[in-house]
Amino acid sequence: MAEPKENKDQTTSQSSENYEGWGFDLFPERRGTYKPNLKNILFQGRGNENLERVKCERKVASCLNKSPLVKIMMGALRRSGCDINPSRHIACELCDTSVHGGYDPIMNQVVICQNTAVSKGTIQGVLTHELIHMFDNCTRKLDFRNIEHLACTEIRAANLTHCGLVSSILEGHSSIFNFRKKHQDCVKHKAVISVLAVRNVTYEQAKEAVEKVFDRCYADLEPIGRRIRGKSVDFELAYAEAFLMGYD
Ligand SMILES: [Zn+2]
Repeated sequence: MAEPKENKDQTTSQSSENYEGWGFDLFPERRGTYKPNLKNILFQGRGNENLERVKCERKVASCLNKSPLVKIMMGALRRSGCDINPSRHIACELCDTSVHGGYDPIMNQVVICQNTAVSKGTIQGVLTHELIHMFDNCTRKLDFRNIEHLACTEIRAANLTHCGLVSSILEGHSSIFNFRKKHQDCVKHKAVISVLAVRNVTYEQAKEAVEKVFDRCYADLEPIGRRIRGKSVDFELAYAEAFLMGYD
């Protein structure tokens, strides 16, 4: 689901009749409510949506061709019989400025926010994260309205792609010796923030859902195989292991 930017207060969704609490209003273009006005164009650089989209699509295409993680996810989706056609299932769009991207389970589409996810690194991270939601939705029959299902797929996405060992040591949160505990705390925190970004629940409710399913979902490493810890060697090893796990 929606991938919130770091260090931002979560933007819980306001109610909309049909999808109350789902957070789809984080993608204003999808709801037809985003109206670029003169103030936006002058002061926030809006008005270049088409150019922005072309640039975003180019970077997405580059990730699809080059990023080992994105390639693992695309291969896993195909091998699992999930319908994945980049031009139909991955979309660059304008979003609320609080998010980088999201997964829309009704349309089965990954959304990359062309106005906030600008660097290739960010786009690669968002793509991998949201493709894990797509994979879970396809292979595990998720009900995204069920907060425990949502918590589980957010735990998996955080576990497999975020919370890097190297960055956590550099930031002073971790030594190699307490990495395991720190890594679990990082995954929990990230999953709670992600649940809060798309569901209109309290912090305590989000945390409770994450804690309840944590052990089972943290141990579930398919399809990436080993946790990605921010070192290129791990990307390469994960890519090699993907063959062993039957993905190409
Ligand atoms: Zn997510």
